Amino acid sequence: MNNITVIGAGTMGNGIAHTFAQSGFNVSLVDISQEAIDRGLATIAKNLDRMIAKEKITEADKNATLGNITSFTDLKSGVAQADLVVEAATENVDLKLKIFGQMDEFAPADCILATNTSSISITQIAAVTKRPEKVIGMHFMNPVPIMKLVEIIRGYSTSDEVTEVIMTLSRKLKKTPTEVNDYPGFVANRILMPMINEAIETLYNGVAGVEEIDTVMKLGMAHPMGPLQLADFIGLDVCLSILNVMYDGFKNPKYAPCPLLVNMVMAGKKGVKSGEGFYDYSESRKAEKVSVSFR
Ligand code: NAD
Repeated sequence: MNNITVIGAGTMGNGIAHTFAQSGFNVSLVDISQEAIDRGLATIAKNLDRMIAKEKITEADKNATLGNITSFTDLKSGVAQADLVVEAATENVDLKLKIFGQMDEFAPADCILATNTSSISITQIAAVTKRPEKVIGMHFMNPVPIMKLVEIIRGYSTSDEVTEVIMTLSRKLKKTPTEVNDYPGFVANRILMPMINEAIETLYNGVAGVEEIDTVMKLGMAHPMGPLQLADFIGLDVCLSILNVMYDGFKNPKYAPCPLLVNMVMAGKKGVKSGEGFYDYSESRKAEKVSVSFR
């Protein structure tokens, strides 16, 4: 396995492309937007520069890594030679079903089709292809070049052989692959999102303020970041959409998103990316780490 295609050059896609390219794979990076590709490649170069500054890699390693990446705005050409495609496009079920239909049509018959989805069913995605046994979840964590975990999600029809190939490949990337089955939220988000939701519920009920809740979890449970700050980093809209997938999938009220989270997303307060979530990230205040007030 040498030719890896990554679909989507956004936050995750560029990190996935970086990681494969640095391990010596031939990477084709595909995005519908040339601007997104340019931004993705610039991010990879910047992250490699940071590694040079820390003396983890050399200038020659950087050039070799960048030299392993070719970019495409056309999916058909981008997947034509692929041994594995890792899809990391926008989290939208209709979009993923369309992309998997196209990948199935244009990628070689023995190519494995993986998705980095945070919450969409692998089994549902696999069902639009003629090779459901070769469809698998490869859920990298952000930032990809740094985080060790890859949650490997077996769809209902994923074969043992394909799972083994992807587990071995992940180890070649110096990651720790962990095999899980395809149920809503998989394992990472099934455990993380109820914790974040409960932290928001605790705030909503007036039990404590933002900083107090985060301090309890940071200093009391040795979490590197409090759950409300982490939610801001993940994106409150993303947290809401994952909770909704679990709520719909299990039909269990314990996954119902807290009304405060729903309100904040409707009001456009999405966390770091919108400049405000549980904390204020506007240019003038982001260094202060101040929480905002809630209604
Ligand atoms: P993003 O918005 O940063 O990037 C998505 C990219 O997909 C954009 O550049 C967009 O132009 C591109 N795109 C959209 N339609 C496309 C198409 N038809 N063909 C090719 N490219 C297309 O999103 P992201 O945060 O990188 O998330 C990507 C995937 O990774 C999602 O499924 C998300 O759930 C998952 N994920 C995200 C995180 C995270 O922390 N951001 C963590 C784990 C998994």
